[in-house]
Amino acid sequence: MWQRPVGSWEEATDLPAPLRAQLGDAFPLARLTCDAAQRSSDGTEKFLWKLADGEAIESVLIPEKTRRTLCISSQVGCALGCVFCATGRMGFRRNLSAGEIAGQVREAMRRDPAAQPTNVVFMGMGEPLLNWDAVDTALTILNHPDGLGIGARHITVSTVGILPHLARLAQRPEQFRLAVSLHAPTAELRRELMPIEKKYSLPEVLQALTQFRRRVTLEYVLIGGKNDALAQADELAKLARPLGALVNLLPLHPGGAPDLTPSDRPRMLAFERRLKSHGVEAVLRRSRGLDISAACGQLRVELEARRKVRPEEHARVE
Ligand code: SAH
Ligand code: SF4
Repeated sequence: MWQRPVGSWEEATDLPAPLRAQLGDAFPLARLTCDAAQRSSDGTEKFLWKLADGEAIESVLIPEKTRRTLCISSQVGCALGCVFCATGRMGFRRNLSAGEIAGQVREAMRRDPAAQPTNVVFMGMGEPLLNWDAVDTALTILNHPDGLGIGARHITVSTVGILPHLARLAQRPEQFRLAVSLHAPTAELRRELMPIEKKYSLPEVLQALTQFRRRVTLEYVLIGGKNDALAQADELAKLARPLGALVNLLPLHPGGAPDLTPSDRPRMLAFERRLKSHGVEAVLRRSRGLDISAACGQLRVELEARRKVRPEEHARVE
């Protein structure tokens, strides 16, 4: 299923025909069908997968030198409603099964066996730690030598910090990487951007990270005039330094938030320099796939809007 990902048991011709038939009955292969695929001028490729019940999710493949990172979804939609996020605006539809989560990697491999993802990040649609049981199993499938065999250090779970499940992830013996979406240096501002702050607050999340025995990444989307002042970089440095955390600075993807403006480039560079001046390791990411709406949730939102206008034009974008 995972190492030579056939499209159906029928294709597994090295197995005896009666066994293939039995497998087909007992374990029908759940497929994700590609409803749309778009390639950006920067090489980023985005897939919209249709699930068996008609729901749709997204994955984005980001090539970078020798790496190919696949960004996968863990839920259909998301209940957490962060103000800058297209998936958040969609609301929550349902959890994905472990097969549907790992299946995104399987299907991407099937499309281009030569371009197997080297890294997987849970940065597509949904909050992975609100679907812990399925994500727990999917992590095993992704990492296990009998599964996809992707090294734990090449698999990153991104979360807003759902405390009970953060502890469960920390308990796993494999060295999975953790990225925590901070986006604000104070609880007050974070509450404005991320409603989950009311339930799991910034100080509690930071406290939980001190228990995590591995180095964590803090994610920070730069929003013009909101969280990009140099004084806020100073505050952020005070949080990141004691943790020895890496700060990932993300340009705001404008499609996710029509009312917010991305920080301008000089401000982003100044923010990054300021963090570094405090001895914090910081990386300003490039915004990838701008021309194909490659931020989480955007392709689905965009296609649905288009379909509402002209339903006869569902044609595959491939
Ligand atoms: N729910 C998880 C994982 C999915 S979102 C989480 O929030 O961490 C993955 C990352 O994309 C998060 O850091 C999120 O804040 C970021 N993101 C969401 N909308 C964005 C946008 N419009 N521009 C840039 N980054 C965005
Ligand atoms: Fe959900 Fe993450 Fe989007 Fe927030 S940023 S709404 S947690 S997917």
